[in-house]
Parts: sequence; structure tokens; C-alpha cells
Amino acid sequence: MKLVHAPQFRTQLLQWYGQSARAMPWRETTNPYPIWISEIMLQQTTVTAVIPYYHAFLAAFPTVEALAAADEQAVLHHWQGLGYYSRARNIHKCAKILMADYNGIFPKTPEELEKLPGIGPYTSNAIAAFAYNTPAAVLDGNVERVLTRLTADATPLPQAKPKLRILAHKMSDDKNSRLYNNAIMELGSVLCTPKNPKCLLCPVQKFCRAFADDIPQNFPVKSPKKARPNKHGKAYILLNTQGEIYLQQRSDKGLLANLWEVPHTGWEAKKGLPSLFGIHFKRAKNIGKIKHVFTHFSLELDIYFIETETPKNTENMFNLNNLPPLSNLIKKVLDCAKL
Ligand code: SF4
Repeated sequence: MKLVHAPQFRTQLLQWYGQSARAMPWRETTNPYPIWISEIMLQQTTVTAVIPYYHAFLAAFPTVEALAAADEQAVLHHWQGLGYYSRARNIHKCAKILMADYNGIFPKTPEELEKLPGIGPYTSNAIAAFAYNTPAAVLDGNVERVLTRLTADATPLPQAKPKLRILAHKMSDDKNSRLYNNAIMELGSVLCTPKNPKCLLCPVQKFCRAFADDIPQNFPVKSPKKARPNKHGKAYILLNTQGEIYLQQRSDKGLLANLWEVPHTGWEAKKGLPSLFGIHFKRAKNIGKIKHVFTHFSLELDIYFIETETPKNTENMFNLNNLPPLSNLIKKVLDCAKL
């Protein structure tokens, strides 16, 4: 992977960014706390979708201290809709560690930041660069795409990551880390897009091997994806005559930990019909089917509906207007019954 002419490349890139940068709330601050929250939310979620969640989350938990002191259920509540709930749990855990061991102050180097839960190589570099202007190379999917096109390197991802990391460090501007990293991410997001890159508008076109060879769309090369296994199960919506729904809380470990769900047969291993209040689940009415894709598998659930006399369990019966934190999967289940 050959290095493009870094100083000239940076000048062209920063000039363009100075004129074209999009306004984003987390770019208007150097406070590591909101920067961290935005970076975690932006994993797997688009900028437009994140903005309202970002504002609402910071309104509810304006400081690391407030977040650390919050109840986990309240944090999960504010994460509803973003999915990938382990991110919210890690944010909460991390805030507690920051208060207990770091006096509420974020470390300044990627190495120190990476010791905190939920902060990997990408996020540690992003916080260090955007909050503290620490020399760091932020390498997300956008930057990977730009770098593989600039160098026309055909090593497939993810195997190419180690050398892309080295290249990203060589190219970055140590005195201007905040600006440079924002600029190259913006280039990948706005012009050097996965499909139909806008090369004719690109400020670094003259440094780009893929453009010179007229093959930008060939990069990055990706290793073939493994097929996702399919799993199946049955989920039961149980309403009492007061219109309350039965929900149970998942364990505090593993997938969708601590979130609430309707009773189901399980999908990890066949568990058979749930058993609650002596209800005959075999009489439940099938009302449809939903599909949900997790990172490592896709799930198909047959949805059943039962209306029953009041189960006297107040802990697990919820008014539909006041539900505890639910995963997107369970929201789909409830949508199936138009609840
Ligand atoms: Fe990307 Fe095209 Fe610019 Fe090359 S010239 S960096 S392919 S937008």
C-alpha cells in the first residue's frame, strides 16, 4: 500500500473541508462526553437518525456524572429505537468507571481510552482527536474506502485493516488531528461514497490511483460474507381484560440483556411452550409472522395472541402506554398485533 503525497494531500483536503463541512452538533463541541455519546450512537446508525436521539439523551443525562448516577433501565429507555443495546449498557458501565477511577475526566490518549468498556480502537481515536486534538488516526468504513481507493489496494477487508491503520497514521496531521480526521471522514461520507463516487468534485482526485485507472467502484475489495443462519420461534402476546400486557425481563447477560419481552418458545434452543398462570397456550390465535435480523443470525417468529382473565401478577403486567425498555424485535412483535 503506497503512501500518497501526504502534505499536499492534506492541504487540498483541509481546504475543501473548510468550505464544505456539514454542520453536526457534535462537531460544535470539544467536550469529550457528548463526542463519546455521538460516536457510540453513530455506530450502525446514520447521522440523520442519530441527531434527535443525541439531543434527547444529553437532555436526560447532561454529564458523565448524571449518566453514572442514572438507573440502567432509564438509560435503556433513552436508547430505545437505536438497537444494539450492549452499547447503552457499556456507556452506563463506562460512566461509572470514569466517575470512580478517573474523577469524571476522560483520558486523553487512545491507549488509555481503550481500557474503558465499549471503547474500541475506532472510538478511542475519535474521542482523542475530536475532543483533545491528540494525534490519532480515526479509521471508520468511510476512511477505509477512501484509503483503499487512493492506493487502489486490492487486499480484501477485513484483512487489509492493519495496513490501512498504518497508512491512516502516516497520512494524518498530528498538529491538526481534529480537523484532518473530520475532513477525511467527511470526504468518504459525502463524495467518496460506496456507489457512484463524485470523483469530478473530489479535492484529492489527482492523488487517487483508482480514479486514474477509472476503477473507484472496485474498492474496497471485501471478503465474501458468511451466510447468516436462520432461527425460528413462537412469541405470545398475552393481554388481560384491562388491556394490560404480560412482559418478562431478560437476564442481565447475553443478547438483549435486561430488556423486556413477551413470553416465547426461545430460539437459541427449543424450549417448548411457555408456562404462565396455567394458560393454555395451545389455544392462542396465530396473528402473523415477523422477521428480524441480528448481527449473527436472522430470526423468524410466529406471533400468537391470547386474551385472558386478569393474571394477578402486577409486576409483569404493563399498561400499553407505559411500557418498560423493549428491543426493536419486541416492538415488531407488538406492531404485528397493532399494539
Ligand atoms: Fe474517492 Fe473518487 Fe476522490 Fe478517488 S477521486 S478519493 S475515488 S471520490
